[in-house]
Amino acid sequence: MPELRKDPVTGRWVIIATDRAKRPTDFVREHVQIRGSGFCPFCYGNESKTPPEILAYRSDGSARDTPGWSLRVVPNKFPALGIEGSLNRQGEGLYDKMNGIGAHEVIIETPDHNLTLATMPVDKVEAVLWAYRDRILDLKKDRRFKYILIFKNHGEAAGASLEHTHSQLIALPVVPKRVLEEVTGSQDYYHYKERCLFCDMIAQEKETGIRVIAENPDFIVLSPFAPRFPFEMAIFPQAHRSAFEESQRHEFANLAPILKDMLMRLDKVLEYPAYNFIIHTSPFPDVSNDYYHWHLEIMPKLTKVAGFEWGTGFYINPTPPEESARFLREAAVATATL
Ligand SMILES: [Zn+2]
Ligand SMILES: [Zn+2]
Ligand SMILES: [Zn+2]
Repeated sequence: MPELRKDPVTGRWVIIATDRAKRPTDFVREHVQIRGSGFCPFCYGNESKTPPEILAYRSDGSARDTPGWSLRVVPNKFPALGIEGSLNRQGEGLYDKMNGIGAHEVIIETPDHNLTLATMPVDKVEAVLWAYRDRILDLKKDRRFKYILIFKNHGEAAGASLEHTHSQLIALPVVPKRVLEEVTGSQDYYHYKERCLFCDMIAQEKETGIRVIAENPDFIVLSPFAPRFPFEMAIFPQAHRSAFEESQRHEFANLAPILKDMLMRLDKVLEYPAYNFIIHTSPFPDVSNDYYHWHLEIMPKLTKVAGFEWGTGFYINPTPPEESARFLREAAVATATL
C-alpha cells in the first residue's frame, strides 16, 4: 500500500511508493559527463566573454577580468531580472505588477573545467561557500531586495546550459512562495510550541536514525520524512541558525566537507546524476530569528514532474526516504577519505 505523508514544515502531501520501491539502478537517466569540447566562457583566457566580474578571489594580484583567479562572480549574461531601476509597484484593477528588478549572478566555482563540486579539493568548496556569503552580504544592502536564492543546476537535465561548474544567485524584490510556505509553517509551530520546528525535527531524527545520512559537529544530513523526489536530502546546521550568511568560520569549515561528501555519494550511488541544490535561508530583514532554520536541499534529477503534480501540488516519490538514506549511508565507506 502506498503511503501519503505530510511535510511538517509546508504541509505538502507526497505519495510514497512502498510496494515496488525503486532502487538506484532502476532509474533511467543521463549520466553527467564533462566533455570539455568547444568554447567555454568560464575558462581562463575567456574573461572578456562574460560581463565584467563583480567579485574574484585572486591570490596572485592579477588584474580583474584576466586569468589568475581561483573563483569568479559575474552577472548572468542573460539575466532573468535587471539590476537597474525602481520597483514601481502598480495595480491594474485587481492585478499587481512591478518592474522586473533583481540581481542574477553566476559563481564560477573554479577555473578548472574538469572539476565538479564533488571532485574539487575541499578548501575550494569552502571558498565557494564564502563567495555565497560575500555576495549575500553585499546585495543585502540594497533595500529593494527581500530574498536571495542561491542555487545550482548540475547537468543538462537539471537545467545547466554550460558544463563548467558554477552556481547562481538571484536577488528578488519579493519573498518567493516556496520560501514563504516554509517561513509561515515554522512561525506557526513556533507560536504554538515556542521552539524551532527544524531543531525539534533534527532531535527526533537523531533518536531513530533511520533517515540520518551523515553528520559532523556542525551539520546533519537527512532524508526528509516526506520528500518530493527520490534520494532528496537536506543539510541542516546542528545548532539553531536562521540565516546562512551568519554562519561562523567553523561552520563553513564543516559545511564544505559534508556537502562535498554528499555530492560524492550521489555520484557513487546514482552514477553521476544531474541534480539541483538550493539554499533556503531567512528572508530580509528579519534574518536572525528563533523560528526559521536555514538548510541546503539537494534534489537529484531522476523523475519527471507531470500532470498529477502540476494539478495537485502532490508529488509521487517511488523511493521511500528510509531506503534512500540507507543507500546513501552505505556509500560512505568508499568516500570516507576526502
Ligand atoms: Zn570551462
Ligand atoms: Zn532551529
Ligand atoms: Zn527548504
